[in-house]
Amino acid sequence: MKPLTEQEIRSAFVNCTKGEAKRLSVPRDLAERPWDDLDFLGWRDPQAPDRAYLATEIGGRPTALALRCANAASWQTRRSMCSMCITTHTGGVTLMVAPKAGKAGQQGNTVGAYICSDLACPLYVRGKKDAGMGARLHETLTMEEKIQRTVANLTAFIAQVTA
Ligand SMILES: [Zn+2]
Repeated sequence: MKPLTEQEIRSAFVNCTKGEAKRLSVPRDLAERPWDDLDFLGWRDPQAPDRAYLATEIGGRPTALALRCANAASWQTRRSMCSMCITTHTGGVTLMVAPKAGKAGQQGNTVGAYICSDLACPLYVRGKKDAGMGARLHETLTMEEKIQRTVANLTAFIAQVTA
């Protein structure tokens, strides 16, 4: 994807207030991120372990989500599958919950998905990051098809948040 600037990321959030988008922590090393291998940029908040964020482009428009991470205890010890990139990890997948955009979110409505805890799905799909033995199902899909599937899963998730 095309590299995003801090300003573009902050103004792309669809499910938090402008004030929150201004204050939340955006990685400082944006220039060094492997944008060519990313379909989205995801990161955990170093100051708040229960928070994560992701930024992508949908139809050429930067779009970003604020996510809450569920308590570790429930998922930590069993193998789980990321619903974005279909990678299986032991303790490496977190239930992340996004408040819905607009009024629905203010009323407490959320959408949840199991996502790689480090939000590095694009790198797992491309084999640039290893999730350990048995992490990938045996599939006949090409890497390009897996990338497309990950993008489709993410797009569907964002569509649920903004619906
Ligand atoms: Zn993943």
